[in-house]
Amino acid sequence: MKLLGLIGGMSWESSAEYYRLINQGVRDRAGPSASARCLLWSFDFSEVEALQMAGDWDGATALLVDAARRLEAAGCDALVICTNTMHKLADAVQAAVAIPLLHIADPAARQAQALGCTRVGLMGTAFTMEQAFYRERLAAAGLEVIVPDAADRAEAHRIIYEELIAGIISEASRASYRAIAERLAAQGAGAIILGCTEIGLLLRDGDCSVPLLDTTALHAAAAVDHVLAS
Ligand code: GLU
Repeated sequence: MKLLGLIGGMSWESSAEYYRLINQGVRDRAGPSASARCLLWSFDFSEVEALQMAGDWDGATALLVDAARRLEAAGCDALVICTNTMHKLADAVQAAVAIPLLHIADPAARQAQALGCTRVGLMGTAFTMEQAFYRERLAAAGLEVIVPDAADRAEAHRIIYEELIAGIISEASRASYRAIAERLAAQGAGAIILGCTEIGLLLRDGDCSVPLLDTTALHAAAAVDHVLAS
């Protein structure tokens, strides 16, 4: 089994899900006593958040590149960045190491394609919904991407930073997220990409009239495929 390097702590609430899902996936495929060979680099998210809010993406890149190089030097065969937002830096991180970076948007795109969707909704942080880095990756896979309107984007972003990364699960926010997802479905989205690794803590497939594609679960499954491939 290959050794997986996880760049996490963004937030640890979702990194804990990655750890559980990757180990569960290895157990399901390789046997009841099997578990994932992995190293987790876990940031203090308050440092990362401060750089995000300041727009200091060079500083954030330096942090992630340092983590990626440490994991590579420790013997990892592949890297997973356990957040959608920080895939803004994915190209820079990939360029800094020789091992592959498994991009989070790719398994989400493959799942949408497998469902026959050409138009998908995207929910996540403002960075993920409003900047080009994530939507362009999905567009390159042939998907038309729609995002919530400005008020819904602000609410989706607020719930992530004020609640989900702080471990707060609120029924009012679950209702807000369901309503935002439903409005995207009403605009013709055939599936909604939950493009923030904490959203799966609040919404599950079945909570909307169209499929909800949880990037944490799909990314973890792709990582399991990779480490078990010979
Ligand atoms: N985990 C979140 C994401 O998938 C948000 C936290 C972050 O900014 O990294 O985008």
